[in-house]
Amino acid sequence: MVTISGKSVFGGVSIGKLLFYQRNEKVIKRTHVDNVDEEWARFQQAKDTAVSQLKKLYDKALDDVGEANAMIFEIHQMMLEDLDYLESIENIIRTQEVNAEYAVATTADNFAKMFAAMDDAYMQGRAADVKDVSERVLDILCGVSGGIKEMDEPCIIAADDLAPSETVQLDKSKVLGFATMYGSSNSHTAILARTMNIPAVIGLGEALRQEYDGKDAIIDGFTGTLYIDPDEATRKAMEEKREKDLEQKALLETLKGKENVTKSGQKINVYANIGNVSDLGAVLKNDAGGIGLFRSEFLYLENTDFPTEEQQFSVYKQVAESMAGKKVIIRTLDIGADKQVDYFGLDKEDNPALGYRAIRICLTRPEIFKTQLRALYRAAVFGNISIMFPMIISVKEVLKIKEIIAEVKEELKSEGIPYKEDVELGIMIETPASVMVSRDLAKEVDFFSVGTNDLTQYTLAIDRQNSKLDEFYDPHHPAVLAMIKMAAENAHAEGAWIGICGELGADLELTETFLKMGLDELSVSPSMVLPLRKKIRECE
Ligand code: PEP
Ligand code: MG
Repeated sequence: MVTISGKSVFGGVSIGKLLFYQRNEKVIKRTHVDNVDEEWARFQQAKDTAVSQLKKLYDKALDDVGEANAMIFEIHQMMLEDLDYLESIENIIRTQEVNAEYAVATTADNFAKMFAAMDDAYMQGRAADVKDVSERVLDILCGVSGGIKEMDEPCIIAADDLAPSETVQLDKSKVLGFATMYGSSNSHTAILARTMNIPAVIGLGEALRQEYDGKDAIIDGFTGTLYIDPDEATRKAMEEKREKDLEQKALLETLKGKENVTKSGQKINVYANIGNVSDLGAVLKNDAGGIGLFRSEFLYLENTDFPTEEQQFSVYKQVAESMAGKKVIIRTLDIGADKQVDYFGLDKEDNPALGYRAIRICLTRPEIFKTQLRALYRAAVFGNISIMFPMIISVKEVLKIKEIIAEVKEELKSEGIPYKEDVELGIMIETPASVMVSRDLAKEVDFFSVGTNDLTQYTLAIDRQNSKLDEFYDPHHPAVLAMIKMAAENAHAEGAWIGICGELGADLELTETFLKMGLDELSVSPSMVLPLRKKIRECE
């Protein structure tokens, strides 16, 4: 038995086989071929295999995420049949007498550059698609496969680290747990693990070796331990621990339908954070009173191009309808920093967390922002949607947002498209600047939601992504708590309400402190709703 210690990001015990997430590291060489006909035939065979893979993916996506999102796999199939694309590959093979891998890689590069240089944002987005389909063909030609092998049974996923976009693409029903070498407990991947209710251990370091692929493993998400080839005694102890945990969770079930009220009668709303429509089941199962944070950027992360107004509208509408009149706070896209999307074409930055992200992108690329706002205002007709803006630092930004909203509403009106006139508007309080001017901000908005993950990062000047700094990243720091208190007082002074949607909202050691501060809402991972309700009901 091998025992490896890391950091826990979500409790629970999972027992199963370890499966390594593979990233492609192909080296494409240019080699001479004698028989160009054979080489061309080899390419065509690989292309046919790719097309049939894409057909299967389309069917799966149709079931999982609906037709609008599945479309991309149909577009990819069409790209592989594109005459210009095929002609370029054949031409390179025949005239240069070279291998198919080289011809595909060169064609992909050329086409991607051509698309990227076009003026139209939609066509620019095709650059990522042509690279993506070509990678698929290259994988087949080189006999490698990226991502996760077909899983017959649910497994524990091991990796050096997982990007948020990689995590969201995993088939969640097949993931028992996450075990990674690196990563920080405040990363979005860790947040996703908590949202998906999946035991996870990070920071296992080099001790997590590729050779453990396929071995029996256990994650103890309470202590942050990974066991490989567990001995009988450990397995038994862990099975018992898992049983106890499940019993505890069953006990929490009894809290369903109960109020979030302290012994002295103080009430507080408990909402849930989501990143995806597929999290809705967990929200309803855990009896959350609403959605306090829908991280809409995951819609962008899951796509290979800007999601259209219709795609977004149908997702927001589905969430609003499923929540049946309960509050659904949708945050406009918060791309940038660790959440990178190729098709946004963002420059590499030395300090991405302090860089071009979130509202800064929206205010300087209003066409992207307006598409999202149109979808939101239209979907608001179908439920109780509120809109929230991330990374605000000034009143000026809020006024600019309102101007853009007015334009959007005017446009919808003149096009005769139904939309909701009065949508509740709020901002994230996640920069020290927003706290310091919170009295003025509160005059402009209906609510605040404190993003303690970023507020801690910016208040303490500690990169939330840097795992080496985890011991210094202290969201209990008096400076952070003073910031929350100040924002709460200023919100209430101006008649706005205030909640927390950062991870600290679920910190049961602070529940009483937050109640004393008079916070109106706490929005937490779905799995934390009932433990938080229990804690609130135990408070005086
Ligand atoms: C936060 O910063 O606390 C927050 C909720 O936003 P995100 O974690 O998505 O940056
Ligand atoms: Mg944030």
